[in-house]
Amino acid sequence: MLNFILKYKNYIKIIVIIVCTSIIYFKIKNENIISETLSGIDIKNSIIPLILGIIIMTLWSTLIFNTLKGTVNLNIKFQTWTKIFFNSQFYNFIPFAGFFYKGVQLKRYNISYKNYLFNYLFIIWSFAIFAFIIFSIEIAVFVDYKQDFFFIPILVLFPSIALFIFLIPKISKFVLEKLNFQNYILDFFYDLSLFLTKNFKKKKLKKIFFLNVLVIHIFDFFLYLSVVKFLNIPISIKTIFLIWLINTIIDLFPVTPQNIAVSELLAAFTGTLLGINFTSGMLVRIFVRMSWVFSAITVFIFSSIFLKFEEPEDLGKNYQICKRCVMDTSDSNITFNIKGECDYCQNFDKNLSKYFTEKNYNSGKIQKISTQIKSSKHKTNQYDCLIGISGGVDSCYLAHVVKRDLKLNPLVLHVDTGWNSKEAVNNIEKIIDKLNLDLHTEVINWKEMRDLQLSFFKAQLPNLDIPQDHAIFGSIYNFAIQKNIKFILTGGNFSTECIREPLEWAYHASDLKHINDIHLKFGQENLKTFPFSDIFQYKLYYRFFKGLKIFQPLNFMKYNKAEAIEILEKEYGWINYGHKHYESRFTKFFEGYWLKKKFGYDKRRAHYSSLILTNQMKRDDAIEKLDTNPYDEITLRNEIDYICSKLNISKDELDKLMNGKNKTFKDYKSSYYLIQFFVKICKILNLEGRIIR
Ligand SMILES: [Zn+2]
Repeated sequence: MLNFILKYKNYIKIIVIIVCTSIIYFKIKNENIISETLSGIDIKNSIIPLILGIIIMTLWSTLIFNTLKGTVNLNIKFQTWTKIFFNSQFYNFIPFAGFFYKGVQLKRYNISYKNYLFNYLFIIWSFAIFAFIIFSIEIAVFVDYKQDFFFIPILVLFPSIALFIFLIPKISKFVLEKLNFQNYILDFFYDLSLFLTKNFKKKKLKKIFFLNVLVIHIFDFFLYLSVVKFLNIPISIKTIFLIWLINTIIDLFPVTPQNIAVSELLAAFTGTLLGINFTSGMLVRIFVRMSWVFSAITVFIFSSIFLKFEEPEDLGKNYQICKRCVMDTSDSNITFNIKGECDYCQNFDKNLSKYFTEKNYNSGKIQKISTQIKSSKHKTNQYDCLIGISGGVDSCYLAHVVKRDLKLNPLVLHVDTGWNSKEAVNNIEKIIDKLNLDLHTEVINWKEMRDLQLSFFKAQLPNLDIPQDHAIFGSIYNFAIQKNIKFILTGGNFSTECIREPLEWAYHASDLKHINDIHLKFGQENLKTFPFSDIFQYKLYYRFFKGLKIFQPLNFMKYNKAEAIEILEKEYGWINYGHKHYESRFTKFFEGYWLKKKFGYDKRRAHYSSLILTNQMKRDDAIEKLDTNPYDEITLRNEIDYICSKLNISKDELDKLMNGKNKTFKDYKSSYYLIQFFVKICKILNLEGRIIR
C-alpha cells in the first residue's frame, strides 16, 4: 500500500486537486454569492493584505536565515539570502521549484544539499511544535467553553500532538541506536534525528525561533482578517480564527503542493460547519492565497531590481580553519558544524574511530589475514604475498610486521621512478638485509617517466605526482599478476591517512583515462614500457577474475607512527628523511614548492590532521609547523637546480610553468564521475570510510 502511494504520489496529488476543485465547482456553480461578493469589493482595500503578505514573507525569510546560521553555519549576507528567498517565492508557482532553487543557490555558498534538507525539516518540525503550543494557549485564553464545549478535548489533544512531534526524533534515535545496524538510509534518519534534537537544544536558536514564529503567527491571522474585510463578508472573528487555525494546521502537512485546492475545500467546509456558507469560506482561502501570490510577485520584482548576490568567491575572504584538526578553507568544499569542526572530523568520529579501539586491535583480524594467506590454495610459488617498499615509514614498518609478526614470506618490490633519495635507498637495503627478504627492483624507463611528468607540468595541474604514483601502483599490480602472487599487502592505513586530501589537490593517480588525455595533449615520447594499470582493471578485473586480494594490515593493529619510527631506527638503523612521502626528491619538491606556492594547497594539512585525530600530534604543534616552509632558501635553490637538470629543463622554463594559468583535473578528460559513482557505492557498502571528494 505504502509502495503504491509512493509510486503514484504525483498522480494521487493531481487527482486530489481535481476532486477538490470539482467539489468546490459543483457546490458553488449555482450560487450568485461570488459575483455578489466580487462586485462588493473595494480594490483600494487590497493594499492591506498585500502589505501583510510581504511582511509575513520577510519574517519567514528572517526566520530561515537565522536558523540556517544557527544550524549549518550559513555565512552570507542577509541581502543575498533575502534575494534567494524572494526569488524562490516566485519560482514556487511551479510546485517545488522554489525549494530546489534555494538548495542549488545555497550550495554555491557551501551549504550541502543534506544540510539544506536537514535545516528545512528542522524548521517544519520546530514550527509544528510551536504552532500547536501557541494554538493551545490561544484556545485556553480566548474560547468560551460553555458555548463551545467541543474545544475542551482540543486542549488535551494539541499539547499531546506537540509533545509527540517533539519526541519523534528522540524515539527514532533511540530505536536506531538499539538496532545498531549500519545502512545508508537508516544512517540518514539517525543523522537527522541527531540534527533535530541537537539544534533544538540551542537556547539562542530557540529564542529567535519562538519570537519569529509568534510574530508570523499574529500577522498571519491579521492577513485572514484583512482578507475578510476586503471581501466584505460578514463573518465573526471566531469563525475567521477557526478557518485560519484549521488551515495553518493542514498546511503543516501538505497533501498537494502548497496544499492547492485542499486548503480551499477545507476552508469551505469549515465555513459550512460554522454557519457561514461554503462559498464564503472558500473565497477567504482563495484570496489569502491571492495576496500571497501578489506579494511574491512584488518581492520578486523588488529583489530583481534592488538586491544583489555576493559572489561565492568573496567567501574566500572568509577564511576558516577547523577547531579540532588543521584542515581549512583551502579545501573549497570543506564544511563546518556549529562547533567549528570540519566534515572530515565528523566523518572520522562516525566511520573511522572504530579502527582505533581495543576491540579492533583484539579482533584477531590480522591473524586471520595471515592464516588466509598461508592456507591459500593459490600458492604456486615460494612467496606468500607481495609488498611494495618505498623506504618510507609505512612501507618499511609493513615489511617488519609481515615478516616478524605475521611470519609470512613476502616478495618485496621496489619501484625506482628515478627520484629516490639517498636515505630511501639506504633504508630499503637495511630492511631487506636484516629481515632477509628477497627484493625485486622495477626500474621505470626514465625517458618515459620524464616525458609523462613534464606533460603534467605543462597541463598546469596541481597533482604532479600522478605519474610516479601510477608507476608504483601499476608496477605492483602488474607484477603480482605476472608472478601469479594472489595477495598484495600495502602500508596504507587510517592511522596516518584518515584524512584523504581532496581531489582538487590530489586527483586519483589510478585514472588512466585522465593520464592518457594529458599525455596525448602534452607528451612527446611513446610510452611503450610504462606500467599502466587502470583503476577498474585492478579493482574489478584483477580482483574478481584473477583472484588478487589486497590487504592493509596496519589498519588492524595499534599503529603509531612515532613508535614505528623508533622501532625502525633501533632495530634496522633506518634513517628519518623528514616528512611523509619525502622519500622521493620529486615528491618533496612537488608538495613543498609547486603545490604550495602555485596553488596554495599544503598537503601537510591533511597529514597532520590525520595525526591529530589519531592522537599522534598536538594541534598547536601542527599549526606551528605549518607556518614554517618545508625548505629553507638555500635548500630550495639547490632542489630547484636538481629538479631542472634532472628533467632537462632550464630554470626559466620552470618559472614559466610556475606562472602559467592554474588548471584542475576537470579541465581534462577523466573517469571522475564513474569513479565517484563507485566511491559512493563503496561508501554505502562500508568499504570506504574516508571522505573522497
Ligand atoms: Zn577537522
